[in-house]
Amino acid sequence: MPTPTDSAEEKKPSRNFIQQIIDADLAAGKNDGQVHTRFPPEPNGYLHIGHAKSICLNSGLAREYGGKFNLRFDDTNPAKEEQEYVDAITDDIRWLGADWEDRLCFSSNYFDQLYDWAVQLIQAGKAYVCDLDAEQMREYRGTLTEPGRDSPFRDRSPEENASLFAQMKAGDFPDGSHTLRAKIDMASPNVNLRDPVMYRIKRAHHHRTGDTWCIYPSYDFTHGQSDSIEGITHSICTLEFENHRPLYDWFCESLGIFHPQQIEFARLNLTYTVMSKRLLLQLVNEKHVDGWDDPRMLTLCGLRRRGYTAASIRAFCERIGVAKFNSTIDMAWLEDAIRDDLNTAAPRAMGVLRPLKVVIENYPEGQVEQLEAANHPQNPEMGTRTVPFAREIYVEQGDFMEDAPRKFFRLSVGREVRLRYAYFITCTDVIKDDQGNVVELRCTYDPETKGGNAPDGRKVKGTLHWVSAQHALSAEVRLYDYLFGTEAPGKAPEGGTFLDNLNPDSLEVLADAKLEPSLVDADPCSQFQFERNGYFFADPIDSKPGKPIFNRTATLRDSWKKKR
Ligand code: ATP
Ligand code: MG
Repeated sequence: MPTPTDSAEEKKPSRNFIQQIIDADLAAGKNDGQVHTRFPPEPNGYLHIGHAKSICLNSGLAREYGGKFNLRFDDTNPAKEEQEYVDAITDDIRWLGADWEDRLCFSSNYFDQLYDWAVQLIQAGKAYVCDLDAEQMREYRGTLTEPGRDSPFRDRSPEENASLFAQMKAGDFPDGSHTLRAKIDMASPNVNLRDPVMYRIKRAHHHRTGDTWCIYPSYDFTHGQSDSIEGITHSICTLEFENHRPLYDWFCESLGIFHPQQIEFARLNLTYTVMSKRLLLQLVNEKHVDGWDDPRMLTLCGLRRRGYTAASIRAFCERIGVAKFNSTIDMAWLEDAIRDDLNTAAPRAMGVLRPLKVVIENYPEGQVEQLEAANHPQNPEMGTRTVPFAREIYVEQGDFMEDAPRKFFRLSVGREVRLRYAYFITCTDVIKDDQGNVVELRCTYDPETKGGNAPDGRKVKGTLHWVSAQHALSAEVRLYDYLFGTEAPGKAPEGGTFLDNLNPDSLEVLADAKLEPSLVDADPCSQFQFERNGYFFADPIDSKPGKPIFNRTATLRDSWKKKR
């Protein structure tokens, strides 16, 4: 007889609306039971966390249904596209764990085919060469509330159009003087159907086709057909393309070619960040950040350099799911995903970020003990290491308070605390400099409390991390806060720009943190939890052998949020 657990296990997890559509397609025998998706970036910037959502969604569906996933660069705009972006995007997607196998595609590979299709539409009387310039075309287009007007060139014969289009291609006309337009309906309530541009003249070097072409197809004339050529069954895109769908349908139907099904979902928005490539590019170009991979950027390379793992980003995308309506996700979701991952995976270590020296007066001078410390409190399989203990140690400045309230369970004169893996110590005296700053503490230790327990059963409430002064590794540690100080930074304050929302304290560099000596061998990209201080990642670029530099990936709890 099935137990309640059995039936719970049998219950299928709930299906999102895209899975429901695909399930229904498969049940109806559409596409010969195939599922083929793609991720279609334009190589004009680096990928961000929003793109990760689309990559995880598309590649995840292909994996789930035993289908295929393509990576296709929609590279129709030569002016803004660069090989640098192609390389960075491929690298990021591979890192994220999506596999396009041998299907790395480029829309520019279809330029010949697209040209032939344009000629086909001209011959069918469905496309014409127009001499209106950009300004005039805007005037003729009408508005959301008024219909447009027909272009005076709309009724050219197919023969005349064919010859003019050939001349466009041959370079007989200056840039911007002519366009090829689809002949659809200037009065359509959908502005995208008001004779949209299919080709424009632009003498620009293309990163793949070089100077072969001086005319380039528009994104709208390229995207749907590229999907069609690749046999994409489910063309998944963000909501703003909903109004383009009738146009993609019109092209595929007019050309009589395979017709992928477009499904729209809501793009990911996150608090405290901007997601537009244009704004990200501005941050980089104007040096408000140290490049696309600045750990404060929510680009994939930035997150990676911050110490986010691919698994945590996949888990985040899975948890937020897909929806039909735009919303904004709290940044805390992303931080929780990396904490969950690192909490299990990252070995523990001790690092003092803002050191305060402590002299343990009754500890023998010159004596050093190697104390055993667990690498992970919940996972004994991760083993142990030793940390040296000596007469002079560092503790965190914030772990001492002069006039401490009763509930301050850390150091103050007369108070006793536990040093992690070591002894109980009691603060006996405070040493200050001329300005009255606390520069050193004097303490005594209880030799009976080795390992952190008192044989007489007395308790202490506070346990502090520490590092032996003579053995400490001095290292640079970088702490990050949100790049923006407001929840919706894309919205500029009145009379200002989004840059006014930048958080001036988003980066704090601690030049001389004191870390336990075992970290001297930390390889770039290795990850640790520094006890009580958060998760840290050895910077892959700036770390040198024997001299790691650590980026804080996340605090242990969402302490930042509570502060506000
Ligand atoms: P642009 O404004 O330059 O078009 P873009 O972010 O749309 O920027 P693309 O390179 O065209 O850039 O994006 C590739 C794919 O990623 C598209 O299919 C797009 O729908 C998807 N995508 C972009 N931003 C998000 C987001 N925030 N959430 C989910 N998917 C996104
Ligand atoms: Mg786009």
